[in-house]
Amino acid sequence: MARFIFITGGVVSSLGKGLMAASLAALLQARGYKVRIRKFDPYLNVDPGTMSPYQHGEVYVTDDGAETDLDLGHYERFTGVAARQSDNVTSGRVYRDIIERERRGDYLGATVQVIPHVTDAIKQFALADVDDLDFVLCEIGGTVGDIESLPFMEAIRQLRNELEPLQTLSVHVTLVPFIAAAGELKTKPTQHSVRELAALGIKPDLLLCRSEHPIPDSERNKIAQFCNVRAEAVIPALDAPSIYSVPLQYHEEGLDREVLRAFGISDAPDPDLSRWHDVTDRFFNPEGEVTIGVVGKYVGLQDAYKSLNEALIHGGLANKVRVNIRWLDAEMFEQGEEDLAAKLEPMHGILVPGGFGERGSEGKISSVRFARERGVPFFGICLGMQMACIEAARLAGHAAASSTEFGATEEPVVGIITEWMSEEGLQKREEGGDLGGTMRLGAYEAKLAGNSHVHSIYGSDSISERHRHRYEVNNAYREPMESTGLSFSGMSPDGLLPEIVERPEHPWFVGVQFHPELKSKPFDPHPLFADFIAAAVRQSRLV
Ligand code: GLN
Repeated sequence: MARFIFITGGVVSSLGKGLMAASLAALLQARGYKVRIRKFDPYLNVDPGTMSPYQHGEVYVTDDGAETDLDLGHYERFTGVAARQSDNVTSGRVYRDIIERERRGDYLGATVQVIPHVTDAIKQFALADVDDLDFVLCEIGGTVGDIESLPFMEAIRQLRNELEPLQTLSVHVTLVPFIAAAGELKTKPTQHSVRELAALGIKPDLLLCRSEHPIPDSERNKIAQFCNVRAEAVIPALDAPSIYSVPLQYHEEGLDREVLRAFGISDAPDPDLSRWHDVTDRFFNPEGEVTIGVVGKYVGLQDAYKSLNEALIHGGLANKVRVNIRWLDAEMFEQGEEDLAAKLEPMHGILVPGGFGERGSEGKISSVRFARERGVPFFGICLGMQMACIEAARLAGHAAASSTEFGATEEPVVGIITEWMSEEGLQKREEGGDLGGTMRLGAYEAKLAGNSHVHSIYGSDSISERHRHRYEVNNAYREPMESTGLSFSGMSPDGLLPEIVERPEHPWFVGVQFHPELKSKPFDPHPLFADFIAAAVRQSRLV
């Protein structure tokens, strides 16, 4: 029987609920339990696919092609459990499905209402496909008291009544702020937040109290008393020196022990936390450091490149080095070569990440050229690979080489795809179709050339990686690009779509059409990132 843990947040947003859910799941997993984490997003977008990375951070893509909230990335990185489409739902999707059914007449004349129709749909989503699981953690986005989250709270309330008495748990994450002028921690916001939750019919079993200062027993007891929970169930959650310390830190504070106790489980195996000890040991005791320049567009907001940031750090863990990331605005490089060289010369590796739109593209292409000419390790991801191909085509004499994404061009080295094969069969798309959900999304296979660099990195003839793009490198320009020493070392199984390019004569030059960063884990760094950072370490010894 699957047990359900509902995680809500109070007081303020950005308390790190996602990380908390991921850490709790990792702790339960360390005790041998099978876990899955789900995210309920109260906003009205059907999925975050069309939301600006500035507003909502990165869009995380699953193997089954869903564009989801970046918290699913945390979940997957901390548990290794591949997230699925069915692990993220938004109010927008729930309402869309209900309205489609209403239009079809499926409700047989009934009045369609929030209760029961919306709440039933939310409950179904939580309960779907859980037979083989021990724990399902459901994180509710937003903060208690938000208008949008009310149907989700109501669905939780109902589920807590409908499931077995010891089958559900409510964990509420709050903030215990420190008021410097008074020199005191304040418990009142937590009290109010719990009252708000109680007014919706949900009594929390466990409080996770985020705080910048240790919470003394006196305050812990006070919270317990006013919020109607046991003092041991008030878990202090202090700021951590690294996200990788969070599972161990919460374990020290008794989080998993209290969760099991609240479920009445007394025979749980002891946790095996060796994986997390190894990760933190590598993270806190680096034997060197490298600096990687990431030349992108959304450099003002690191959440926009969340998985990339993590994957680079994982590459560092694999090599026992600290990775310093310099976020460089590609547009800056369009002003002059001198500026570009001054900014890129100190870098031990240059990475051009995924992105959309023309802005900064010339700066990205110049960065590719700099890396190629100077022999600096280069990693191009999705748009980054497309830029590497345009750079090669220009080198081969196609001076106008460009992508149709940036406007009409006579030399479409990168162009729109209108047809491709997926597991469901031939997919087709109109050139001017809707933006939402019209990309090549999710896991696709690629075949690797036997004697290539990437073949030795992956140690395999065939790989599966996640995609999220609308444009493809145009095979028609393959010959001129190859004439510059660019090798097409990974192709789609039908041989039509370039998936990986590399420069065998260069110390490390790889461009990939997919997003390897989405599958990297701290305890299992992605081989491309591990190898790229190893090359950066070699480069750091040269400069
Ligand atoms: N904008 C490019 C495309 O749609 C690249 C997308 C990406 O980098 N994720 O093909």
